[in-house]
Amino acid sequence: MGPKYLSEKFRMVKLQMQRWSERPRMLVLMLAVILPATALIVASAYHLRSIQREKGVEAVIQRDYQQVLAIAEKRIADRAYEMTEAAKAKFPDANHPDDLESFLETNPDIAHAFLWKGGGNLAFASQPRRMGDPEFREEGKRLASNVGNWFDVGSKDYALKLKKMAAMEGRKVYITANWVPRGDKWQYQSLVLFEPRGSTLDHPALAGFAYDSDFLATKFFPQALNTVLPNQDPDDTSHPQPAIMVRTAKDNSPLASSICWDGGVPEVERGFESVFPGLILGIKLRGTTIESISNRFLRTNFLILGALSLLMAGGMWLTYRSVSRELALAKLKSDFVSNVSHELRTPLALIRLYAETLELGRLSTPAKQHEYHEIIRKESERLTALINNILDFSRIEAGKKEYNFRETDVADLVRSTLESYRFEIEQNGFRFEEKIENNLPPLQVDREAIARSLLNLVNNAVKYSSDDKYLGVHLYRENGSVNLEVVDHGIGIPANEQLKIFEKFYRVGDPLVHNTKGSGLGLSLVRHIVLAHGGEVAVESTPGKGSKFIITLPVQGSAIQQAKGASA
Ligand code: ADP
Repeated sequence: MGPKYLSEKFRMVKLQMQRWSERPRMLVLMLAVILPATALIVASAYHLRSIQREKGVEAVIQRDYQQVLAIAEKRIADRAYEMTEAAKAKFPDANHPDDLESFLETNPDIAHAFLWKGGGNLAFASQPRRMGDPEFREEGKRLASNVGNWFDVGSKDYALKLKKMAAMEGRKVYITANWVPRGDKWQYQSLVLFEPRGSTLDHPALAGFAYDSDFLATKFFPQALNTVLPNQDPDDTSHPQPAIMVRTAKDNSPLASSICWDGGVPEVERGFESVFPGLILGIKLRGTTIESISNRFLRTNFLILGALSLLMAGGMWLTYRSVSRELALAKLKSDFVSNVSHELRTPLALIRLYAETLELGRLSTPAKQHEYHEIIRKESERLTALINNILDFSRIEAGKKEYNFRETDVADLVRSTLESYRFEIEQNGFRFEEKIENNLPPLQVDREAIARSLLNLVNNAVKYSSDDKYLGVHLYRENGSVNLEVVDHGIGIPANEQLKIFEKFYRVGDPLVHNTKGSGLGLSLVRHIVLAHGGEVAVESTPGKGSKFIITLPVQGSAIQQAKGASA
């Protein structure tokens, strides 16, 4: 007993060591995936946080907006030059100052026009259509006096500036700002200066006209802003649309705006550099702010990151579970091989020993001889049972197991199966109780398979009993089925193992179980056989008190036919 026990123990320790040597390998495998993935997720989260902290998204959008505004400014300036150069082309010749009035009549958008031909010689006219407005007349007078003074004093500077413009930008006009008081506010006018036709080196002339702020606010800028931003639709809420406005440096409210402007404060502003000095362009999104876009962007990205992390964790967990299962199965298989070899060796050794003894003819009494023959027979029966189990198992695994269902008196089948074992069981010190109900209906079963199931259960009951040696086999009818119960008062099975014991190769990790021979195939065969009969197998067990295995076989033929179809 001693050495055998030790060798068993040694085997268990070795198996355990194998199991532990698998774990680090799995851990390394998991870490190889987890570490880079976690690093990636953490780095992305950190990156997003820093974008959030440094308002990175806002900065990018603002930079974009600055560019949009720069382009808008350039286009608006081009339009302004086009418009003013067209008007300049129709401006009276320097020798015809009287034509200023008719020029204004044909250009109703122009408020005032003037022609200067040397110190003190200024012709000035204001838009005749508005001469009824005294304020306007007053404004004209003031402008006339200002222009006269500017040109008298600085005509050379203006001429030089115009030459420079023509040389550098190819522009024949110089556009600047003129602020005029109206009521308690300052109004913005655009003043256009140029050298009129008929101006010569000997008789230099300067001319110009002014666009009123009303024209800029109601006509020029609305058109210009809408062409800068084409395809605007204030009713389209599917995406935020950009809107541009223009305001004076002296006033925060817009002078003019594009159609999508919905009030509020511009997100980015840019002052006009050349054509409209003193005016400021502003841009924002209709119905939203850069901040909320940035928040949404960050939120979406954080959510995606979170979802990815969850997916990764889920994936890792699934991988871990399936790898653990694979490892457990691999371990069960290796246990199985060593268990089966053990199981084969013992009966073979016994058979050889007793056969040799018989061969030598040294046994004195026939009774002894009979006893030895019986041992040889029983051991070979055990071998056959084991090999049958293994063969059955391999057929099931290969999907080739076939059942031969025949109408059978199950009571008779159970009785005769137990009969050959009764003596042996009782001899082993078991109290054996057999309760078989009368008048049970005949069932369609594969006799051999059912007998093997019963023997597997009976063998287990005997194997896994210690002091209280009891074996009960009950066959009775319950509702639509016939139940076969095998009861023992043995070591029992812990609740968390009760499902696993029906899996192939599985043996409870109890040392007592490991000291008992077994392959871990018996119950998985029982389950397969019972399911093929359209029935069920269940276990009720309390550790230390004993177990009860219940096979339920349906009485109706239909269930069996179904099961036959399923197993085929
Ligand atoms: P084995 O060849 O190991 O007996 P089985 O498939 O028949 O294989 O049983 C699987 C495991 O279920 C056994 O190893 C044992 O741990 C447990 N078991 C089976 N029947 C009993 C029982 N009657 N009492 C206690 N444990 C049992």
